[in-house]
Amino acid sequence: MSAGSLFADHALLPGGWARDVRLAWDAAGRLTAVQPGATPEPGMPRAEGPLLPGMPNLHSHAFQRGMAGLTEYRAEAQDSFWSWRSLMYRFALRLSPAQLEAIAFGLYVDMLEAGYTAVCEFHYVHHDTDGHPYADDAELARALLRAAQRAGIGLTLLPVLYQTSGFGGAAPAEGQRRFIRSTASMLRLLETLRPACEAQGARLGLAPHSLRAVPPEALRDALAGLAAQDATAPIHIHIAEQTKEVDDCLAWSGQRPVAWLLDHAPVDARWCLVHATHMDADEYRRAAATGAVAGLCPTTEANLGDGLFDLPRWTVDGGAWGVGSDSHACVDAAEELLMLEYGQRLSRRQRNVAATAAQPEVATALWLSAVGGGAQASGRALGGLAVGQQADMLVLDAAHPVLAGLEAPQMLSAHVFAAGRQRPLAQAYVAGRKTVDAGRHPLRAEAQRAFVQARRELLAGGA
Ligand SMILES: [Zn+2]
Repeated sequence: MSAGSLFADHALLPGGWARDVRLAWDAAGRLTAVQPGATPEPGMPRAEGPLLPGMPNLHSHAFQRGMAGLTEYRAEAQDSFWSWRSLMYRFALRLSPAQLEAIAFGLYVDMLEAGYTAVCEFHYVHHDTDGHPYADDAELARALLRAAQRAGIGLTLLPVLYQTSGFGGAAPAEGQRRFIRSTASMLRLLETLRPACEAQGARLGLAPHSLRAVPPEALRDALAGLAAQDATAPIHIHIAEQTKEVDDCLAWSGQRPVAWLLDHAPVDARWCLVHATHMDADEYRRAAATGAVAGLCPTTEANLGDGLFDLPRWTVDGGAWGVGSDSHACVDAAEELLMLEYGQRLSRRQRNVAATAAQPEVATALWLSAVGGGAQASGRALGGLAVGQQADMLVLDAAHPVLAGLEAPQMLSAHVFAAGRQRPLAQAYVAGRKTVDAGRHPLRAEAQRAFVQARRELLAGGA
């Protein structure tokens, strides 16, 4: 990598829009200067449109991109998350390391073209198809690292601890055999993966899958083991996504999932509570106060019929949040924000719900909050266009018909709310390196071919 600089007529800084901004970064891709009201140096590269901070995608199961579009039919009289999950398991059971790498590579290239400059990979398919560990226990995790490296996207790798099929230590189901590991084996896996992650600048964390998949002692031991390796590592957990999960947790412990977690785990700013859809007023207040990030996945939550997160109730207590594309039925940072805001509008019968007195432009408010929460959940310096943060940036295509002639904040509004399925994004930079130009990733054709081939093979395996 090499140092670089860029001049933007309009740039979205953490405090809001600024004019005539000169940015510079060092050879490691860290911003060393962000100066509004500057004059461009002679020959300095100029952004063709408004400059935005790149969006960290805080929740991804890469392999599920291969089954996007395959579960949109009636399989039961009343389809649910749980019938979707049984189809997902059948898919997960057939996946080879090469297929995972191809699907993830195609997905990550797509993400970069869609406004995501980093991804948190919640990785739970660990073992060979028969449920035995690979000769290299990190085989599938390494496939993800290679895919991210090749695409040029930043990565937070979150190997998933998965031990039981339900609350109270229910034995894992046969369909979960590729996910299961002991706590000791998980801690060894983290040690194995650490050098490879460090070599490519990826952050390594841990994801206890959910309270239904990780018994209390395992949760406690895994967190202690993780803290001994890296006391600031990110910790992500699926929580309170479905009402059945809430009911099962109540039956098991007498407490709702988020309340149980807050009482039994050291939840703080390292944590990302993925979904957290079903919380009562007390849980909203207590969870927001921990400093944990709410990991919202609006299009997946809509696709799976999870329910609606109550954003104002979370932010009134200062709660941090970010967005993830999760199952990848949709891969587009702007569309997640649109779906999030529209869910709030529909449930409250109001408009511009995420806007604030300080930031009345709703798309700007949404974008800045999601970058901040996404950065925190990533455990990496991705917190926007500020000195010390990584130069992860997007340039809006100011000449695109949807945006042309608008003011910079309106261009972002049009990108989020009016672009339909077009993507008026011209460039993406990761750590100061241009990974997308004229809306295209240079490896797009190759990545798409590999993706289609892998999916064809998986489908030929029979459903
Ligand atoms: Zn998930």
